[in-house]
Amino acid sequence: MKTIYLDNNATTAVAPEVLEAMLPFLKESYGNPSSIHRFGGEVRKHVEHAREQVAALLNAHPEEILFTSCGSESDNMAISGFLKTHGHGRIVTSTVEHPAVRTLCHHHRDEGVKLTEIGVADDGLLKDDWKIPGMIDDETIASFMWANNETGVIFPVAQIAQKVKEVGGFMHTDAVQAVGKVYVDMSKVPVDMLSLSGHKLHAPKGVGALFIRKGSAVVPLIYGGHQEQGKRAGTENVASIVGLGRAAELAMTRMNEENTRVRELRDRLEAALLSQCPDAKLNGHREQRLPNTTNVSFGYIEGEAVLLLLDEKGIAASSGSACTSGSLEPSHVMKAMGIPYVFAHSSTRFSLSVYNTQQEIDATISAMPGIVKRLRELSPFVK
Ligand code: PLP
Repeated sequence: MKTIYLDNNATTAVAPEVLEAMLPFLKESYGNPSSIHRFGGEVRKHVEHAREQVAALLNAHPEEILFTSCGSESDNMAISGFLKTHGHGRIVTSTVEHPAVRTLCHHHRDEGVKLTEIGVADDGLLKDDWKIPGMIDDETIASFMWANNETGVIFPVAQIAQKVKEVGGFMHTDAVQAVGKVYVDMSKVPVDMLSLSGHKLHAPKGVGALFIRKGSAVVPLIYGGHQEQGKRAGTENVASIVGLGRAAELAMTRMNEENTRVRELRDRLEAALLSQCPDAKLNGHREQRLPNTTNVSFGYIEGEAVLLLLDEKGIAASSGSACTSGSLEPSHVMKAMGIPYVFAHSSTRFSLSVYNTQQEIDATISAMPGIVKRLRELSPFVK
């Protein structure tokens, strides 16, 4: 059975073009880019070309791109690095950040850093973003995600960054879900640092990048050699870096398709789910969100059960609830949005990519009403 993969916010397939670009660096071109000899020097050129490709996707300068091992490392470097240089510092963030930011902020709070988390409304958008400037001074880092991984909801990062910079704060954004899906232009958005991750845009897992605007102070997370201009030690993951560069280049050529064909497929799926499954509700703002993501709750049933029955039909999706110690807890994002328990519990995320076809979407549309009906008959929830 061929998998219908609708879990692209979890990870994406490596694009064939990306794999092809990577292979020489796993075979004959295995030199160390820091070596003096030509065998290594040639490899260095490809790492620097990848830096240019990633910079081009963000409309940034190549010197502003630092390669890391993942989105989580980029988030940690931005936030912990800032706090290291700013005494006790302060963090202002949202209640719906990915755990890479959220648990890190909670860790710093437990170590004595002041933390303010701005809540969201039931559509997933920030409630009190007009209050943010009053909380910021030059010892504060604001960290707001560009797009939410569960709902796809897009925060107005450009406006938030503008306000933060006006009052002298430092601005980081976790753009792991946004880069490659929507236009991210660093000449227009005054953020100081931005995190991205390769495996969300058809590059392999285990490579990411941190955009660091020229002039920002940087503190390494990993000390050792002088790689990445002395900002991150460790021999470069050359093949994956080259893959990320190629994926960035591909993303630019596919951005239009992502925002037209992929969006249309997502809308087709969403409209069918909402009209054909009783008690189905969309989670998150309908317009202000990524083109590839829909998050729908099917009231009075369990999201995990939906996933298992979809899996039986070869369809891979994702749920907002995590099975912890026998109890199915709705995700912190659903809770922060105030989604009632019987809906939060069944939140199901379908996230598409350019590799999805209309046949796959139609097969999912055919499967879902039967799955919902079957689970409702077994549901312990009373409507
Ligand atoms: N931030 C967001 C919004 C994400 O969705 C993810 C991964 O799901 C991460 C950070 C972490 O990225 P990585 O898996 O590369 O560490």
